[in-house]
Amino acid sequence: MIYITKNGIPILKGDFTLKVSTDQIIYHFTSSNCPVLTVPSGSIVEFDTYDCFSNQLRTEKDKMESLDWDRINPATGPIYIEGAEPGDILKVTINRIEIDSKGTIVSGEELGILGGILKGAHTKIIPIQDGKAQFSDGIRIPIKPMIGVIGVAPKDGEINTGTPGKHGGNMDNRMVAEGATLYFHVETPGALFALGDVHGVMGDGEIGVSGLEIPAKITVTLEIVKGRSIQGPMLENSEHWTVIESAETIEDAVQEATENMFRFLSGRMNLKDPEIAMLMSLVGQLEFCQVVDPLKTVRFTMPKKYLGEISL
Ligand code: CA
Ligand code: ZN
Repeated sequence: MIYITKNGIPILKGDFTLKVSTDQIIYHFTSSNCPVLTVPSGSIVEFDTYDCFSNQLRTEKDKMESLDWDRINPATGPIYIEGAEPGDILKVTINRIEIDSKGTIVSGEELGILGGILKGAHTKIIPIQDGKAQFSDGIRIPIKPMIGVIGVAPKDGEINTGTPGKHGGNMDNRMVAEGATLYFHVETPGALFALGDVHGVMGDGEIGVSGLEIPAKITVTLEIVKGRSIQGPMLENSEHWTVIESAETIEDAVQEATENMFRFLSGRMNLKDPEIAMLMSLVGQLEFCQVVDPLKTVRFTMPKKYLGEISL
């Protein structure tokens, strides 16, 4: 592959955007995956993504009973970022998320928080018109596209794309939206970045086990940050700093997210530790990402306006 670097922006010869298609998907984050593309730090890459069912449920006739469960949560990639070494940070800026004209949502027996109450398996196809998900005649929900699965390869072994963790993965965090920047701790050379599982809209918790699952096209900028270290995935947008933690129980995720936000602020703010706890208590938001995946994910969110000029 040949690159021309112009003003620091890498360009694939003959094409202005580096593209990865849904021919190139993974079901596990692992250092043994072969990269589908190798790019220098600073590259802009466009990904096509399937929905979390690999587009198997796209009409009312497609039944959940016939779903091939081996094809759940495909992530497009992985991308090898040149120069990324274990201990670095991969910075991912979400430039754009373009979604398809219809999405799919499911609910039913043994699915999500209400799986003990519901009977059978149910699928709904929801068209999107005028920027709104047409749930029913009287219910139209403004879309807020977000990325469910996004992350890097772990140091050892493999983690299926349905599970969240320190590497990112299936965090189902609705703040992973256009304009957000994510930071991942690089565990393996090249980082091996992949993403998928876009939702047209989703509430905190994802209680029914899915959001509005939808094929998409996502454009991100991938950069390597040297000489800094983070405890787990972090997210920044124009208004907030956030840490994201996943654990077997909500309680454990809450403890870890809160401690990690405290550590992040403690090294960067001109406040004594007890005052940082006080500030977190006054303006920090502890929020659910999802409570239905193999590990549960929460985030601790701090408004930037109280933090002064802090950076990664
Ligand atoms: Ca998901
Ligand atoms: Zn999903």
